[in-house]
Amino acid sequence: MKTPAEHRAPAFQAGKTLKKIMADHFLELDAAAKSRERKIAWCSSVGPVELLRGMGFLVYFPENHAAMLGATRMATELIPTANALGFSPEICSYLTSDIGSYLRQKTPLSKAYGINALPKPDVLVFNTNQCRDVQDWFAWYAREFQVPLLGIFSHRDLGKIKDYHLQDIAKQIQDLVPDLERIAGRPFDLERFQEAVRLSKTTSALWRACLETAAERPSPWSFFDHSIHMGPAVVARGTQVAVEYYEQLLAELRERVRTRTAAVPDEQHRLYWDGMPIWGKLRALSELFASLKTCVTASTYCNSWIYEQLDPEVPFKSMARAYTELFIVRNEQFKEQYIREHVRAYHCDGILFHDSKTCPNNSNARYGLPQRLQSVSGIATLAINGDLNDLRCYSEEQTKTQIEAFIEQLEE
Ligand code: SF4
Repeated sequence: MKTPAEHRAPAFQAGKTLKKIMADHFLELDAAAKSRERKIAWCSSVGPVELLRGMGFLVYFPENHAAMLGATRMATELIPTANALGFSPEICSYLTSDIGSYLRQKTPLSKAYGINALPKPDVLVFNTNQCRDVQDWFAWYAREFQVPLLGIFSHRDLGKIKDYHLQDIAKQIQDLVPDLERIAGRPFDLERFQEAVRLSKTTSALWRACLETAAERPSPWSFFDHSIHMGPAVVARGTQVAVEYYEQLLAELRERVRTRTAAVPDEQHRLYWDGMPIWGKLRALSELFASLKTCVTASTYCNSWIYEQLDPEVPFKSMARAYTELFIVRNEQFKEQYIREHVRAYHCDGILFHDSKTCPNNSNARYGLPQRLQSVSGIATLAINGDLNDLRCYSEEQTKTQIEAFIEQLEE
């Protein structure tokens, strides 16, 4: 029997750059928060970051911090502190662990970067395209810090996207400008905004190209790698830093394809992952799948950071399109078709649905989608229960048994 280390592919060279980008991101925010020389905007992960960068804000993403709380397994013990404030254990565990972290003054940034406090915002900006939780989460911090809260209220469960949807969202984004000008203390700069849109679009194209290398056999990387390397697509989207990072990563992935370096040595099975990562169990799950000679080659989650609809010539309208055409904003028919196409493109034998207890928005196993995919397309599916951050909702033993049985079924 091989040890977990023997199942692992060599580490990515780009990993060193990734670490530096994340460190620079937090250290720059920390310095700005202390010196007050740059204004800071907090933004939801699929919020209007290009506009914020175009207006000169440094941008901080609470969801990224919350994912770190999950990955470092600090989240579970912090969640009850937010529950005591009235935030239910049933709602987003990013929200509850992040607010718990703030109240308890415990953050993974301390150990990683020597930073003990979150960068105080000058404004918080959300888009409800992903869920309502971001609005309530940001509203709590707006009250706490006594700073303005701005939002875009998106249409949801969309099939065909109509022009009136896009006009509405584009107008809402545009309407943020006067408030942001006042908070930033500078006038709107169209060229700077267009540049951020252009860089975001280039980042998206590169990130897509990186993900698409997983269609190769053997795949040079897996969902568990994607979840780590998508960091710059979240926190540095709209900057040259992200563009250069994905150029480096893509070159490395292409070299792995050329040399047939597999993420999972002796790859036999390939799966699609739908739903949130289980942040505190990335390593354990990666090792479990590797031991079963199974590579998770694609996911809805990591594909969500592709916004190639962005167009610097029509920045507001194209932002509206990019942030409305997202998977999470769409109806079940769209999602079924999307997953079917991706399963085919990435040569997957089966689909694993993670039904995340506190994120119904990113859980697609609740309205019969796995069963429809299985009966209509003959694709094997498995739904597991868990959570993105709250490990009390996850049974390692039960999940392991389910996954092992599923792979056996694929073998048969
Ligand atoms: S999409 Fe889910 S995980 Fe993300 S903020 Fe909303 S509820 Fe939380």
